Amino acid sequence: VVIAGAGVAGLEALLALRAHARGRVAIRVLAPGEAFLHWPAPVAEAFERVPAAEADLTALIQSADAERTVDLLGAVDADTRAVRTRSGERIGYDELVVAVGGRPVPSVPGALAFRGQRDAPAFRRMLQDLEARRISRIAFALPASNAWPVPLYELALMTAARVAALRLPARVSIVTAEQAPLERLGPMAGSAIAQLLDAGGVELHLGAGPASFRGGVLALAGGGQLRVDRVVALPRLRGPAIEGLPADAEGFILIDRHGRVPGLDRVYAAGDVTACSLKHGGLATAQADAVAELISERAGAPVQPRPFPTIVRGLLFADANPLYVRIEAVRRDAEPQQARGDGPPPPVRCRRSVEAHTRAGTLWWPPSTTAGCYLAPHADAGARSRTSRRADGSVALTLLLADRDAWGGDHAMALRALECAESLGGPLSPHYAARRRRWRQALATALPE
Ligand SMILES: Cc1cc2nc3c(=O)[nH]c(=O)nc-3n(C[C@H](O)[C@H](O)[C@H](O)COP(=O)(O)OP(=O)(O)OC[C@H]3O[C@@H](n4cnc5c(N)ncnc54)[C@H](O)[C@@H]3O)c2cc1C
Repeated sequence: VVIAGAGVAGLEALLALRAHARGRVAIRVLAPGEAFLHWPAPVAEAFERVPAAEADLTALIQSADAERTVDLLGAVDADTRAVRTRSGERIGYDELVVAVGGRPVPSVPGALAFRGQRDAPAFRRMLQDLEARRISRIAFALPASNAWPVPLYELALMTAARVAALRLPARVSIVTAEQAPLERLGPMAGSAIAQLLDAGGVELHLGAGPASFRGGVLALAGGGQLRVDRVVALPRLRGPAIEGLPADAEGFILIDRHGRVPGLDRVYAAGDVTACSLKHGGLATAQADAVAELISERAGAPVQPRPFPTIVRGLLFADANPLYVRIEAVRRDAEPQQARGDGPPPPVRCRRSVEAHTRAGTLWWPPSTTAGCYLAPHADAGARSRTSRRADGSVALTLLLADRDAWGGDHAMALRALECAESLGGPLSPHYAARRRRWRQALATALPE
C-alpha cells in the first residue's frame, strides 16, 4: 500500500490500516521531508507564544512498521499501478491512498491569510500594533469559501476580549458573505454565536462578501466598502489537480462513500484533497478510516468495511452548555441540521473540560488533532507535554458527544464515538459498555435486512 501525504488523513489511514490489517500489508508513506507533523494548532495559540506542538513524523511512521519515501506525488498511472514522484522516481503499488491535502490560496488579496500556526507570528505582530495603538480597526473576513469557518470567529472573539481587557480604543468586526453567523452550523449555532459576538462587542457585517483590501479600504463584493487598518481572512483551498486522477473544476478528487476514486481500480483518496464541500479534520479522518477498512478487508483481515459518515458533528462552546451541532458535509445542497431527541438533552458531565474550553476561547470540539480514532492518542500524547493544551477531558468530551449522537437517534455515530473514547482512554466503564450494547441493538433493529 502506498499512502501519499502524511497529514491528518494520511497518518490516520496508516495507523488504521496497521490496526486492522496488521502484518498483511506492507506500507510505504510518500511525503515531503518534514521532520515533524505539526498538529493543526488551536486558534488560542495565535495569541501566546508556545513551543510548537509536533510529533516526530519518521518515528510515527516507523512505529506503524511502514517505510518512508521523502518526495512528492507527481502523477498516477493507474493502468500500470504506479506513481511517479516529483523527482521522477517510479513506485509501484497494489493499493494507493492519496491524502495530499488542499492548496491554500489567499481568498482576500491584501489580507493576512490565516492558515494556522505558521501565520501566528504575523498575527501576533498585528496584535502588538493594536496594543501599541498604532492601529485600531481590524476586520476578520470570510468570503464564500470551502474553509472551516469557526477559527475566524474564534480569532475575532479573542481579539475583542484582548481589546476589552486592555481598554483599547479599537473596533473589531466580522465581514462575511454568510447570511447568518456560522451559517453552515445551523440557526441555533447562529443565534448562540450572535449573542456571543454582541456581548464581546464584535461588529457583524452579514451578506457582505469581502473582495480585496488595499490602502485601508476593504472592498465588498456587492460594491460597498469598509475603512479598516488590517484584515485577517481564512484562505480558500484549491485541489492539487494531480495528473492521472479525475478531479472537479477546482482540482479536488472525486470519491465514493468508501473513499474509492471512481473509474480507477484500487485508488482511494481521503481528506482535504477530496471534492467535499467542507474541509474538516473530522471528515478527513473518517474518510481515511473507511479507506483503511476497505483495503484491510481486501487483504484478508476480518473487517466489515463501512462507508464514511458524511456528517461533521461536534460541540460549540458558545455558553456554559455546549451546543451539539451536526453538519452535512458532502452534499453540496445540504441544509444544516440540528439533531433533536425526545425529552431534554443528556446532561453535561464534563463541566471542567467545558470550562477549560470556554476560558481558552475555543469555540469548537473536537479539534482536528483529536478527531481521528487512531491518530488521537498520538495527538493527546503530544498535548500532554505542553502547558497550554487541554489534553485531559478528551475522553469525557468524546463520551458526551456519543450521548448526544444517541439522543439524536444516530447510533452509528454514537458507536464510532465510543470507539474513539476507547482508543483514547482504554476500556469503557461498565456504564458505557452497557450503553454500547443498547446502541448496537438499536442500530441492528433500525437497519434494513
Ligand atoms: C486555521 C485552521 C483551523 C482549523 N481548525 C480545525 C478544527 O478545529 N477542527 C477540524 O477538524 N479541522 C480544522 N481545520 C481543517 C483541518 O486542518 C483540515 O481539514 C485537515 O488538516 C485536513 O487533513 P489532510 O490530511 O487532508 O490535509 P493536510 O493536513 O493539509 O495534510 C496534507 C499532507 O500532504 C503533504 N503533501 C502535500 N502535497 C503532497 C504531495 N504532492 N505528495 C505527498 N505529500 C504531499 C503535506 O505536506 C501534508 O503533510 C482547520 C483549518 C485551518 C486552516
